[in-house]
Amino acid sequence: MKKIPVHLDKETSSSYDIYIGTAIIDRMGLLATKQNWAARYLIVTDSTVAALHGAGVQKTLAEVGLPADIIDFPPGEASKAFQTVVGICEQLMEHGIDRTSALIALGGGVVGDITGFAASIYMRGIPYLQVPTTLLAQVDSSMGGKTGIDLSTGKNILGTFYQPKGVFIDLAFLKTLPLQELRNGLTEIVKYGIIDDPQLFGTLETRADAIKNQDPDLLTEIVTRSCTIKKGVIEIDETEQGIRRILNFGHTVGHAIETESSYAVPHGDAVSMGMAAETILSERMGYLSADERSRICALIGTLGLPQRIPPDLSPQGIAACMKGDKKKAGDVLNIVLLKKIGLPFVTHAVPEDLIMQTIEELQG
Ligand code: ADP
Ligand code: ZN
Repeated sequence: MKKIPVHLDKETSSSYDIYIGTAIIDRMGLLATKQNWAARYLIVTDSTVAALHGAGVQKTLAEVGLPADIIDFPPGEASKAFQTVVGICEQLMEHGIDRTSALIALGGGVVGDITGFAASIYMRGIPYLQVPTTLLAQVDSSMGGKTGIDLSTGKNILGTFYQPKGVFIDLAFLKTLPLQELRNGLTEIVKYGIIDDPQLFGTLETRADAIKNQDPDLLTEIVTRSCTIKKGVIEIDETEQGIRRILNFGHTVGHAIETESSYAVPHGDAVSMGMAAETILSERMGYLSADERSRICALIGTLGLPQRIPPDLSPQGIAACMKGDKKKAGDVLNIVLLKKIGLPFVTHAVPEDLIMQTIEELQG
């Protein structure tokens, strides 16, 4: 089991560790007693994950004398609503959960976001652990302390920055994960290679087949690299004031594709298309060489990730959604471009017609 420490600003939050390995969940119970995070635990999950993995996680805690009840809600983004959080908090009260207890977020990004949010506001904040079970949550949302829920008017509008006491990344959970969900995670791994790690990028290029076959050692290696990169960024910029924005590479165009498609295009696919678009834009703006542009687009293709934007989505609509992205500062549209593989930067000076032209080309 590998341990990656996350060092945060002592004034605002406490530091914690990320644990990574295969079949490591048994160790969580032991660590929970050793670290004394809480006197009792409550597992929060969705009904799919509860059926597959709930009992296993309960058992690891029971084995060290920590009884843990489970509560669940229906899977899917629709659960990221205020009613779900209120329902969870009411159940926490019924289970007698107080400030000496901790929650365990067992599931994908939806479970992590909702559980983290509930933990951050229930009785003015109780501890929680992240146990991500999707590849996407393992390399992305389980780290960094972003929590939140959607409103009918937008995604992740209500939320907090609230760091977990620990993150347990067990690759054994991925055995039951559907292929599309794996692709969502793989896209973020490609993103880490592009923005921060030419060596990881090279591994993805040369070992694409082993990745598609889910070689366990390779998966552990690339998940560990990804988590190390994200940890490094979070440590410098816990609340996304600056450098953390580079993690949005592919996401400015990607989020706009998701929104314009009314979420018919899955997050991973949209970000993969967005990475292709932002890579091409980087070349058009004179920052990135044609050679590196073609390496990036080739890698996306080799891994079986999409770059073609569905032709029924309007380029004007996508551009309009980009301007409406809540991550913009003032009236300026921030977008992450590349100077090289491993060298991203944030700019607001990309002409709208160039964006639309690139989108149209990717629709062809
Ligand atoms: P994400 O991490 O992609 O944001 P979600 O929380 O929406 O994801 O989870 C995506 C879907 O995968 C949900 O339907 C969830 O129930 C399911 N899921 C999560 N983890 C697993 C797993 N280990 N095995 C099978 N299905 C899972
Ligand atoms: Zn993403």
